[in-house]
Amino acid sequence: MSLPRARYDWTRDELARLLDGEPRYRVDQIWQGLHEHGSEPGEWTNLPKALRARLEADLPRALRAVTESVSDDGQTVKWLWALADGRMIETVLMRYPDRATVCVSSQAGCAMACGFCATGQAGFDRNLSVGEIVEQVVMARRSAAASGQRLSNIVFMGMGEPFANYDRTWESVRRIHDDIGIGARHLTLSTVGIVPGIRRLAAADLPVNLAVSLHLANDAERDVLVPINRRYPLDLLAEACRDYVDATHRRLSFEWALIHDVNDTDRHARELADYARPLGAHVNLIPLNPTPGYQVRGTPPRRVREFADLLRSLGINATVRRTRGTDIDAACGQLRAAHATG
Ligand code: SAH
Repeated sequence: MSLPRARYDWTRDELARLLDGEPRYRVDQIWQGLHEHGSEPGEWTNLPKALRARLEADLPRALRAVTESVSDDGQTVKWLWALADGRMIETVLMRYPDRATVCVSSQAGCAMACGFCATGQAGFDRNLSVGEIVEQVVMARRSAAASGQRLSNIVFMGMGEPFANYDRTWESVRRIHDDIGIGARHLTLSTVGIVPGIRRLAAADLPVNLAVSLHLANDAERDVLVPINRRYPLDLLAEACRDYVDATHRRLSFEWALIHDVNDTDRHARELADYARPLGAHVNLIPLNPTPGYQVRGTPPRRVREFADLLRSLGINATVRRTRGTDIDAACGQLRAAHATG
């Protein structure tokens, strides 16, 4: 099935062709309405009424909210969206006192099959289009603004592997940067470690942040937990990370979901420190969010602190991330999984 072209899939040139016969400034007005205001075509009162009605039909929304769940005293909002073809994706908004961060999906499902990840357990559906990615940001910004927060940061840590959908992801990054107006320093791409994607990012013309989901720093164990490691083993990954750091001078971070007895021993901390130190990488420790398809627990809080302290004593900058939204299944892919099973 070919999908209808959604609202944010249109480029400026395509809109100009769609509006053939209208004054040229209409494209700018529409572009502004879409990206600066993030409002509905029906609200664009600077346009004639008939044109507004036509645009409502020609620029359909890509996302239909199936559920909107709120947790952490209203600080975390998670949407489960249905796409035009019925596929489902998730977006999470994390609110702070005066700003907010949105976590967006780049694919419906994921083919990377990391054992502990709910999205990986369910498999791959399809890549998202540029419009499906950008609209997540616009909807989140609207929700943040309604409670007085400025959407300040975008992280590609929702469903999917951004570098397995590189071109559309990058086009959406450009759109979020150029047209929605979020600075490169406030944009973070998170990858399981797709080396060609990291190399492309190193050569790209916007210095966005890179997070690599490491979780293990020896090939024997990482091959099992993060299967793509067999294709892009740790030495190749480190070389690509080095290129990124040299080219962009941005800080690299490693994500490490702490899993009890799987990657939280002293040995694991030492392996991680040895891997991260030469790259000057920052480590984000995230206690595992339990998922139905993986019968291992997260590291208990006391051990999380010990692990972080050990890393610091080995010269590594480490931050313990608070898990957000555990009660609304906000771990990657969980909301959709819960929806599918009833
Ligand atoms: N594919 C990309 C981005 C999506 S996953 C990547 O791998 O980076 C976003 C982050 O959530 C990754 O660091 C991933 O490892 C982590 N994650 C997935 N499932 C998790 C779980 N159950 N608990 C904690 N973190 C999880």
